Amino acid sequence: MTPVAPDASKADAFVLSCIDPRLVDDVTQLLATMGRTNRYSEMRIAGAALAAVDEARPGWNSAVWDNLAASRQLHGVRRVIIINHRDCGAMNLWAGRNLAADPVEEERQHQAVMDRAAAEVLRRHPDMAVELHLMALDGSTQRLPCAACNAAAERRLDTMRPMLRAEAVAPPPPPSPPAGAPAFAELVRLRLSGGLADAEAERALLTEGVTRYGLTAAEARAALAAEATRHGATPSTAARQVVVFLRAQADGKGRVSRRDVGHAASLYHGLAGNQGRRADADRAVAKLMEAEGLSPRPDGVLRTTTWYRRLAEA
Ligand SMILES: [Zn+2]
Repeated sequence: MTPVAPDASKADAFVLSCIDPRLVDDVTQLLATMGRTNRYSEMRIAGAALAAVDEARPGWNSAVWDNLAASRQLHGVRRVIIINHRDCGAMNLWAGRNLAADPVEEERQHQAVMDRAAAEVLRRHPDMAVELHLMALDGSTQRLPCAACNAAAERRLDTMRPMLRAEAVAPPPPPSPPAGAPAFAELVRLRLSGGLADAEAERALLTEGVTRYGLTAAEARAALAAEATRHGATPSTAARQVVVFLRAQADGKGRVSRRDVGHAASLYHGLAGNQGRRADADRAVAKLMEAEGLSPRPDGVLRTTTWYRRLAEA
């Protein structure tokens, strides 16, 4: 089978590089490693990107832009690969000093010149892609960022996604709260000030918010959370913290001492803003222990757990 020769009439890139004789083969090699051999139009002109934008050389500027336009028309290129190089005589002439003496500053100058050239490519051909490369004298090459390319890509995305953009500009107005919300908030305030006994009472209150006041479950929870921040924890958040405490105090058999159960009840009572009776907190802790599979550790001379039964039944 004869290999298919690349279509010589087509190129997918326009390469702008410098006339420096030291790098002729390196530029060709770089394009080969990109897999672009015979697939690009090449324009070599002193300074590469500089020739496109140097205001002192309008003839060179128009030569670059005319050749790019011609390559687009003749070969259909949609990509511009700009290859500037270090120790460039044209760049030194333009800067009025030997840029290579300070490699960091040299790179900054090349970046600035190539950024201007890229912006001009995109102004003339908004649908094109641009790559910026800086080659060293040994032929090694670094790809430089292209600020104008990123901005152009953003603009293309914007025109491709008008709906997304419209959403970003004008977010939908937040839904107005349901009519029953203020009344439910009053009820929540009342119940919390009396001390919500436990998670069950909390669920009953939330259910009331939905069935009587026409709130969604999320709205009812939000109303409770808003009030709870004024009053301390809700029973369920208090319960979670108490469970963490109990588990930390339990021994290897899941037994909690009388003293620690007392601490847990104080903790629960405190988290609920010291609202309600202390006996309610004791009972809540006993319920939590049961739910968590924790048991009381026998206490005192008789090693009994009567203390705990009294607590649970109080
Ligand atoms: Zn040069």
